[in-house]
Amino acid sequence: MHEMLLAQRIIDIVEQVMEENSAEKALVIHITAEKMSLLSPDSLRSCFATLTENKKLAGAALNIKFAPLVNHCQNCNQIFASEEMSFNCIYCGWENPTPLFGRSVKIEGIEVLIKMDLKKSLKLHSSHSGEGRNPERYN
Ligand SMILES: [Zn+2]
Repeated sequence: MHEMLLAQRIIDIVEQVMEENSAEKALVIHITAEKMSLLSPDSLRSCFATLTENKKLAGAALNIKFAPLVNHCQNCNQIFASEEMSFNCIYCGWENPTPLFGRSVKIEGIEVLIKMDLKKSLKLHSSHSGEGRNPERYN
């Protein structure tokens, strides 16, 4: 996954939301990544720090969580969630379930300071699909 592109996309979205809400500073950006995005949190944080140096978003923290994988078993036709990338079907034990919807990275919310130092949380619904090697699995 290309963390530099993703970091720039996150910055674009957050700056737009901050402007729409007259926010002065971003404190925390909450991000949920699905496991198949192969996101590297350290790499994303370092790209974000580089791109925001001396800018409005400098110093904002990235709170990165990984969502469980959602899998489909073609053997017993069940859908189930799992934490790991290598696993067997939890229903029938089959060894080769297919991950579903596994590549997106979402900005779940942003904590910002608005005027008078009131802290505010903004809920977002934008998402960014990771650029990658299996385009048929884009969400
Ligand atoms: Zn199964």
